[in-house]
Amino acid sequence: MTYVIQESCLGETYAACVDVCPVECIHPVQHEGKPFMIIDPDVCIDCGVCLPECPIGAIVGSAEEDPAYAIVNKDLTPAAIEYEKAHGKMAPRAPNAPPRRPENKLIK
Ligand code: SF4
Ligand code: SF4
Repeated sequence: MTYVIQESCLGETYAACVDVCPVECIHPVQHEGKPFMIIDPDVCIDCGVCLPECPIGAIVGSAEEDPAYAIVNKDLTPAAIEYEKAHGKMAPRAPNAPPRRPENKLIK
């Protein structure tokens, strides 16, 4: 398993991480009733570009640093991919733009 998004991302709406991932393996999803982002562990190439982009330090560089959320990222990946198939990928947005994930509430 690779880079992991942690619990502190819950409810976050900026999603700076998505805009920089070179393999587009960061996906929106709902978790515990809030917007969340997951990293697809089968696609992440461990490049590390996303980690310094997160304004709240919610990304870690290995599953060992947060084993519980490594499992959460992996388990939520299929739902996130299905969501993107249905609704399309998020477009890049400016830092001060409104939240771009209100539609995520469609994912249970
Ligand atoms: S930049 Fe950080 S807090 Fe924002 S969506 Fe990505 S992981 Fe979550
Ligand atoms: S480490 Fe690289 S490939 Fe993996 S999620 Fe972050 S930006 Fe994407």
